[in-house]
Amino acid sequence: MAASFKTIATKLIHAGTPRPRVNGAVVTPVFQSSTYEYLGEAKYHDVRYIRLNNTPNHLVLNARLAALENAEAALVTASGMAAISTALMSVLSSGDHLLAMDCLYGGTHGFVTKDLPLYGVSHTFVDGHDTEAWKRALRPTTRAFYVETMTNPLIQIPDLEAVVRFAKAHGLISMIDNTFATPVNFRPPELGFDLSLHSCTKYLNGHSDLVAGAAIGRAELIEGVKHRLDHLGGSLDPHACFLLERGMKTLAVRVRYQNESAARIAAFLARHPAIERVNHPSLESHPQHRIAARLFEGFGGMMSFVLKGGVEAAERLFKRCTIPIIAVSLGGCETLMIRPAAAIHSGLSADERAKSGISDALVRLSVGLESTDELIEDFEQALSN
Ligand SMILES: *Cc1c(COP(=O)(O)O)cnc(C)c1O
Repeated sequence: MAASFKTIATKLIHAGTPRPRVNGAVVTPVFQSSTYEYLGEAKYHDVRYIRLNNTPNHLVLNARLAALENAEAALVTASGMAAISTALMSVLSSGDHLLAMDCLYGGTHGFVTKDLPLYGVSHTFVDGHDTEAWKRALRPTTRAFYVETMTNPLIQIPDLEAVVRFAKAHGLISMIDNTFATPVNFRPPELGFDLSLHSCTKYLNGHSDLVAGAAIGRAELIEGVKHRLDHLGGSLDPHACFLLERGMKTLAVRVRYQNESAARIAAFLARHPAIERVNHPSLESHPQHRIAARLFEGFGGMMSFVLKGGVEAAERLFKRCTIPIIAVSLGGCETLMIRPAAAIHSGLSADERAKSGISDALVRLSVGLESTDELIEDFEQALSN
């Protein structure tokens, strides 16, 4: 009997598992075979081969990822950037124009500004709330509207409902990078987004031990992404598929804990005299607190904050904290901190950073799974005089 599961917690563990199970195995075994016996597949894209993204390990993940966001289809990829670049290249062709939110993940920004123009695709960056600017930027060749659920590192949320309405009204394909929210807190296809993209490297795997990505959305679009991925070659290795499937099982438990923990830490930091400002959607001071409360099931585990003492105070905090690790990336079990101006956004000039609101003293925090009380104690001692 085809199983159907109601809640995300159950889907994370069971959705997409073949019935009967492979030799009764409770866990999907690793199918470390590059090629499979020919069964008369008539089309190239159906031939069973790891690069064609159709081993049993891929098929379980594809079905499970689709179920998580209540979408028609999904495709697991070799990295978040493989999902993003391949999806953009499958939606856009030479002569097309892309509307994109003005604050994008660094790799995506680079792909849109440096690589897509080589293939004849132009773009306009727009503010996530300025619907008049969206209208002005629209061209007859505009094909898609690309946004992120939350910006990095300021955790701003665009007007997601307006983005979907605008895309539908103008025949654009709506695309969203949902990495920061995760399918536990937000499911873009339910709001009407056509394609939802993820870096599974982050929360979906959740253990900071692999790189993977996913495209989730309408079946016809996902088929286009698969055909492009089959050619570009960004397929996830079966062993990494196995690790990702294992990591994903605990996503709901992890994200709900991180939602709570981050909100408590944000409240603590917001009250602390050494802190100038905290950016987390759980705070009423956050400009999109109400949008987040309406659309999301949780405010997420990512935040950023500015210390009153500037860069020096941030560096002192890094030296004195004993639990958080100073590292890029996010969404794992370990709490991570980084100064984006020094690491992630160091490619931008001081001017460009100031324009996008990324001060040199801004600290980004990915809350892990350690004890919330112990993390707060650690920040407390690190911030004391
Ligand atoms: C990390 C990240 C990516 C890129 O993912 P990779 O798995 O590193 O390729 C894209 N978008 C967001 C929001 C990310 O945090």
